[in-house]
Amino acid sequence: MNIVVVGGGLVGASAALALAQAGHQVTLIERVEPGAVSAETKDWDLRISSVHQQNQQWLAELGVWSQVPATRRFGYTELAVESQDGAKLTFSAADAGFAELGFMVENNALQRALWQQLEAEQVTLRCPDAVESIDWEARTVTTTAAEPLSFDLLLGCDGANSATAKRAGIGRRGWDYGQRCMLANVITEQALPTQTWEIFRAGGPYALLPLDTHRACLINYQSSQAISELQQQGDDAVLAELSDLFSPHIGSFQLQPTNSYASFPIQRHTALRYHAHNCVALVGDAAHSIHPLAGQGVNLGFADVQSLVSQLSTQDLATVLPAYEGERRALNQRMMRAMDAIHYGFDSKHLIAKWGIRGVFAGIAQLPPLKRQVVRAAMGL
Ligand SMILES: Cc1cc2nc3c(=O)[nH]c(=O)nc-3n(C[C@H](O)[C@H](O)[C@H](O)COP(=O)(O)OP(=O)(O)OC[C@H]3O[C@@H](n4cnc5c(N)ncnc54)[C@H](O)[C@@H]3O)c2cc1C
Repeated sequence: MNIVVVGGGLVGASAALALAQAGHQVTLIERVEPGAVSAETKDWDLRISSVHQQNQQWLAELGVWSQVPATRRFGYTELAVESQDGAKLTFSAADAGFAELGFMVENNALQRALWQQLEAEQVTLRCPDAVESIDWEARTVTTTAAEPLSFDLLLGCDGANSATAKRAGIGRRGWDYGQRCMLANVITEQALPTQTWEIFRAGGPYALLPLDTHRACLINYQSSQAISELQQQGDDAVLAELSDLFSPHIGSFQLQPTNSYASFPIQRHTALRYHAHNCVALVGDAAHSIHPLAGQGVNLGFADVQSLVSQLSTQDLATVLPAYEGERRALNQRMMRAMDAIHYGFDSKHLIAKWGIRGVFAGIAQLPPLKRQVVRAAMGL
């Protein structure tokens, strides 16, 4: 099949690669080159994803994982969650009989590794290029930099503000949580355990992603106004606020020298349909973007790709597109609802919510088979 993928981020690039490996003719259109990964600095870029076990194995099967520099991926073995009033639950890979729960990976490094494999698979890369118009009847796409292309299937992997969705006439619903997420990469004095953790408090959680034994990405969710005011005050104020929050847990630390912090708005949306015109499907953030508090966004996008590729291997397009939507929408919506329950439930000052969380934590902690099941779900198994 002749497939055009619009958007070469983590999801689009992995879709192009998996489809090329399945024997399809693939062209990828991307407007910007992936960011560089410098071997000279150990500083990580701020866009980092927690990729769960199952997706890491899939990326390894695609031949990508081994191409990610070892300095830009880091396995974690434990995940701890603490509620506002101190109830704590820790999950360990060992609970499910695995060495790691998942991996922190620098987005740029993973995207570069995917693109390297795309070249090896002879996927046609059009970059920098951008879509100008799409004729759904004739199944052709016109771009700014090269000849028009024809396609049997076009994948919109162009992120949360997908122009492909708009061109296909697919609407969406969603909202802004009124929060921003500040990410700061730091170097610690003390060695860090291979544990990722998140502590909930009124107004938004804070969390740590370990990047190596003395590096971590610190995450601080607060109202958009509070984060913007903090950033305006500059590096010293940011470091002081982060130190107040995190030093009791990890000792003293410094911001990494380059590219040390930034913040992102927290939004959620879902496309009203995942496909249209019998020839276009939305994949990844183009179809759904989710609150990042449990690091599930790109994991859902990779799962979309696996579903689509597997269905394309056995059925014709007219059957595949509704089947893809049927399978993925239900699972993605369930994850979005779970994130909302965590976001609003853990933020609540209501006693019933607090007791409920304590009860759930105690129930999971005391029932090893249930705990094992939760761990396996977190690993995507
Ligand atoms: C603060 C934060 C932390 C996160 N942490 C995690 C995490 O730990 N784990 C996790 O799983 N997820 C995480 N996510 C979510 C994750 O980053 C996204 O789900 C993921 O990056 C989406 O990938 P994508 O390829 O679908 O979209 P994008 O990354 O948005 O890529 C879209 C691509 O399309 C290109 N494009 C757009 N328009 C056009 C056009 N017209 N023509 C050509 N190209 C175009 C863009 O240049 C871009 O390269 C986080 C998100 C945020 C905001």
